[in-house]
Amino acid sequence: LPEQQAFNIEYWLLEEAKLQRQPKPKSLAGRVAVVTGGAGGIGQATAARLIREGACVLLLDIDAEGLARTESHFRDTFGADNISSFTMDVTQEQEVAAALQHCCLTFGGVDILVSNAGIASSAPLDETTLELWQRNQDILSTGYFLVTRETFKVMKQQNIAGNIIFVSSKNGLVASANASAYCTAKAAEIQLARSVALEGAPLGIRANVVNPDAVLRGSKIWTGKWREERASAYNMSVDELEEHYRQRSLLKLNVLPEDIAEAIYFFASDASAKSTGNILNVDAGHAPSFTR
Ligand code: NAD
Repeated sequence: LPEQQAFNIEYWLLEEAKLQRQPKPKSLAGRVAVVTGGAGGIGQATAARLIREGACVLLLDIDAEGLARTESHFRDTFGADNISSFTMDVTQEQEVAAALQHCCLTFGGVDILVSNAGIASSAPLDETTLELWQRNQDILSTGYFLVTRETFKVMKQQNIAGNIIFVSSKNGLVASANASAYCTAKAAEIQLARSVALEGAPLGIRANVVNPDAVLRGSKIWTGKWREERASAYNMSVDELEEHYRQRSLLKLNVLPEDIAEAIYFFASDASAKSTGNILNVDAGHAPSFTR
């Protein structure tokens, strides 16, 4: 675009008219995405969002039953050609390598990684056992590392200008009561993403982070012990906790898996082509810019 046309309204009107006459291609058509934690809330919502934009998606999860249910539901909804699933544990090096191999055999490579599989388990510091601490580090920071490393290798070998998106957490930036193991692991994910952005840039590989605040509805994490642990950390009932999250946000809204999926889609698409090493908080206006 010549510089003098940048502020020429007639030019933009003509361009817009041209665009409107063309059928709109799906923005991720021909791209392959790997989504870890694809049998759960945010992973499922993200996979659906990416498939809707034309991507082929490989769902990875440790939950074989949930994965089969998700895959079958997606096949019924979107058709069968662009979906595959693979049961694996993100903490197991061999299983991660096998998952990426499956992706290459099924879809020919990988353009987008959404590293999202996770747990939430916490305790006050003096009750945090080494096992609990280690479990958080293993699944979150180490799991993210293993999946990213294997994906990065494929992108580098195949010369793919890929796109890596981490689902970290508001807790990667600000500490939460009684959650030191989780907060530390989530912070490590953010630093890993920045390192990947640095090393990936010369290869055209981008890496960005989406930080959810509490996503209660649709998340398996919240149906388990975590909900009670959090409620007890705040000395509240579970219902009061959800209301607390809503009220403390500037927009007075709870965050849903679809909201996180939308932010991930932004980083997965060319709309964010000039963004790498960045963090997008999807928290209805809570962390980390305000002291409330
Ligand atoms: P979820 O429990 O609904 O989904 C997580 C999925 O990860 C599950 O399907 C689970 O089976 C899978 N998983 C767990 N351990 C695994 C392993 N070792 N290997 C492979 N898969 C494994 O939870 P969600 O809310 O969708 O969480 C997704 C991500 O978002 C997590 O990283 C979580 O820390 C992060 N997050 C969630 C919230 C929230 O409030 N829900 C807030 C901030 C960040």
